[in-house]
Amino acid sequence: MKKFLTVENLTVVGIVLGILAGLFLPEVMLSLKVVGDTFLNLLKMIVIPLIFVSIFVSIASLSSLKDLKDMGIKAVVYYFSTTALAVLTGVVITNIVKFDVSGIPKGEEPPQVAPFTVETFINNLIPSNIFQSFAEGKAIHVILFSILFAVAVVGLTEAKREKVVGFFDGTNDALMKIARWIIALTPVGVFSLIGYVVADKGIGVILSLWQYVAVVIGGILFHAVVNLGLIAYLVGRFNPFDYFKKVREAVLVAFSTCSSSATLPVSLEVATKKGGVDKKVAGFVLPLGATVNMDGTALYEAVAAVFIASVFGIELSLFQQVLIFITATLAAVGAASIPSAGLVTMTLVFSAVGLPLEGIAIIIAVDRFLDMFRTATNVWGDLIGAKIISRLTNK
Ligand code: ASP
Repeated sequence: MKKFLTVENLTVVGIVLGILAGLFLPEVMLSLKVVGDTFLNLLKMIVIPLIFVSIFVSIASLSSLKDLKDMGIKAVVYYFSTTALAVLTGVVITNIVKFDVSGIPKGEEPPQVAPFTVETFINNLIPSNIFQSFAEGKAIHVILFSILFAVAVVGLTEAKREKVVGFFDGTNDALMKIARWIIALTPVGVFSLIGYVVADKGIGVILSLWQYVAVVIGGILFHAVVNLGLIAYLVGRFNPFDYFKKVREAVLVAFSTCSSSATLPVSLEVATKKGGVDKKVAGFVLPLGATVNMDGTALYEAVAAVFIASVFGIELSLFQQVLIFITATLAAVGAASIPSAGLVTMTLVFSAVGLPLEGIAIIIAVDRFLDMFRTATNVWGDLIGAKIISRLTNK
């Protein structure tokens, strides 16, 4: 009995009970929103300091900057190739399945989203005030500053370096201790989060867009199981199913919170404590991955673009499909790791391909539901990447 009562198993129970309670006791679940919000706030509370400290400690404890270059190149190659593979899977699937778009509701009101362009993407990369970036939770700024700071500290005299690294190393351990306390609350947190979404949205909306939903989920599952599974097996030389069993807590939290960054404390804990990922690798690869590596989001952007083109009766040329491939990859890298971020960056794909932005209003109703699947895949992709890089760098 005691063996069954683990946080992982109770989290699954929490998700199932949350769905049932959302369906049958919607009023109760709506009034319990504060429970899920509190869980989410607790996770978010430690994320930004954790990103800064874990990347710093990871780089500062490498034996040389050559190791950083080595790990960095491997991470970037992994992120880009798997994201591109995800988009390709999305494009291929939508070429096989022809959408039946008769009777698709045209959506209530167009969403208020500012167009996302390549210029904003580049402008948003460099922080002008790092404290503002910390306060606003701009993960990419914090990562950039942390890398610069760590490289600078590595070049200090031994005595100074030891003091700075020692301080942040202790801070890292303390933050991870807090993370462990919060993780113990996961079953209750996910129960409330999932129950609220089901009670708030209902499941009726899914039915009207069932074909689109099925293609996105089918594509995402294919990528998560077959593509990433094969990469794990062939490149990392480990069994992806065994690994999943060890780290599934993080995937379930991603599914429930729809936020890769809020899931980061859990990913760091399970990857190092249960998944056998080297601490230095996890500390660098997981925060970076949570911010830029989003396979589920990339695949979803590609499928959504083709779906909306069908709804508006637009025949996509090969050139437009190539544009979808490029912009969906960029849009996934640029998406913040928070709920619905992928929907915002979708404007980049739509503008590039020449699709009407009103199209987003059509798919917004099922966005939260699909966000669960894409965020779970985003985090699963990060975890596989961490394990592969850990294997390749520790030969
Ligand atoms: N919610 C996703 C994440 O945090 C991003 C998205 O909206 O696709 O990974």
